[in-house]
Amino acid sequence: MATTLTAESVRAEVRAWLEANWNPDLTVGEWWALLTESGYAAPTFPEEAFGRGYNRALANVVNEEIAKAGAVGPPAGLGYLLAAPTIATHATDDQKKFWLQRILDGTDAWCQLFSEPGAGSDLAGLQCKAERDGDEWVITGQKVWTSTAQMCNMGMLIARTDPESPKHTGISYFGIKMDQPGIEIRPLKEMTGRAMFNEVFLDGARVPDADMIGGLNNGWAVANTTLAAERAGLGSGGSGAAGSAFPGPIANQLGLRVGDTVGQIRTGGTGGGGGGMSKRIIELAKANGTIDDAVVRQGIAALYTLEQIGKYSSLRMRSGGASAAAPNLAKLMMSDMLRLNRDIATRVMGPEMAIMGKDTMSGGMQQEGLLFSPGPSVYGGTGQVQRNIIGERALGLPKEPDPNKGAPFKDIPKNT
Ligand SMILES: Cc1cc2nc3c(=O)[nH]c(=O)nc-3n(C[C@H](O)[C@H](O)[C@H](O)COP(=O)(O)OP(=O)(O)OC[C@H]3O[C@@H](n4cnc5c(N)ncnc54)[C@H](O)[C@@H]3O)c2cc1C
Repeated sequence: MATTLTAESVRAEVRAWLEANWNPDLTVGEWWALLTESGYAAPTFPEEAFGRGYNRALANVVNEEIAKAGAVGPPAGLGYLLAAPTIATHATDDQKKFWLQRILDGTDAWCQLFSEPGAGSDLAGLQCKAERDGDEWVITGQKVWTSTAQMCNMGMLIARTDPESPKHTGISYFGIKMDQPGIEIRPLKEMTGRAMFNEVFLDGARVPDADMIGGLNNGWAVANTTLAAERAGLGSGGSGAAGSAFPGPIANQLGLRVGDTVGQIRTGGTGGGGGGMSKRIIELAKANGTIDDAVVRQGIAALYTLEQIGKYSSLRMRSGGASAAAPNLAKLMMSDMLRLNRDIATRVMGPEMAIMGKDTMSGGMQQEGLLFSPGPSVYGGTGQVQRNIIGERALGLPKEPDPNKGAPFKDIPKNT
């Protein structure tokens, strides 16, 4: 007789599994292989896709237990956050079997080759083209703002396969190998001093037809699955499990002792990760006495309130009871919280906020947060675009007029 799963029964099972299997002395690769085999790496995926077929609420219990045990969650980065749910939804059985296992066990690292110099908010205006050559497609074009491309061996690529069709219908989605002669990656230095994102030039790069995901000219629907996963993931701050390493052959972290990666940044800079912001500022403010400043206290109270609202909204979203606009709202709120954190931290730290370096009061963390704070309201769809989506898809407001609707893409004026 099939037993009905409850939060309690899942909690007990995960605890027992962690007690038997979590071992900080394993390598990162060994631990991720175990996690993948158990189905706990991606519990919402069906069993045939290395998951357990859990609903969001039960998957949340798994994440909570992994975090409570101080164990390491699934791989960091966009492969787990974006490529895996996209592949699980749209790929063929063979593609799922091959790619999902390699994402979950950390063999591959994926980047997102979506934005172009003339196609960001208007993503469907992309001009990177894919032309058929026998069993392969030849890719020519430029992508930009590609986070962690220099650390990834695979890319989620959207390219135009039919310029005769209207702009949303002539796009296809591919899983492309990054290490090939037709791809050049040029890092872009940010004001933080790091080069997290890149320009990617594709000049005669090749991808087998078998690596198209979701069918010919169906790329817009597939890309929307990636974008929905991005909004939900950025707003809720990921799985909540403690720390992680970066996957793939280039980062070369699979051989590290997994216990040493606990507490490492999950996504190399692209993730939301809002929990604990107020706690860190309270510590700083207590240390230098600014905790007695009424404006600082009000700011901390506002930040804490937003954190709690975000936490409960995220729980509601994971249990499937939230509005269709919840991921967009979560993303907007995360951007607001990061800006509020920046403003209070600046008041607490005073002139020290202008100095980068590990030997400063916050170990450089708040300064980096200040310089990075404009980013989250841009990536994953800007704040204005989130508001447009909420207006059109959740509130039923009229759509933005599009004078080129239905016209072949090749005849539409381009941003070049
Ligand atoms: C830190 C960071 C990491 C990123 N990582 C990646 C990545 O890994 N892969 C990837 O593909 N992309 C990535 N991006 C790119 C990101 O998705 C785009 O920057 C974003 O979609 C906006 O596009 P854009 O920069 O071309 O701005 P534009 O689209 O040119 O927008 C300019 C301004 O116009 C506003 N605007 C545009 N259209 C409308 C409209 N219809 N209504 C109202 N306002 C509008 C925008 O809100 C914005 O303020 C990243 C960006 C950042 C900042």
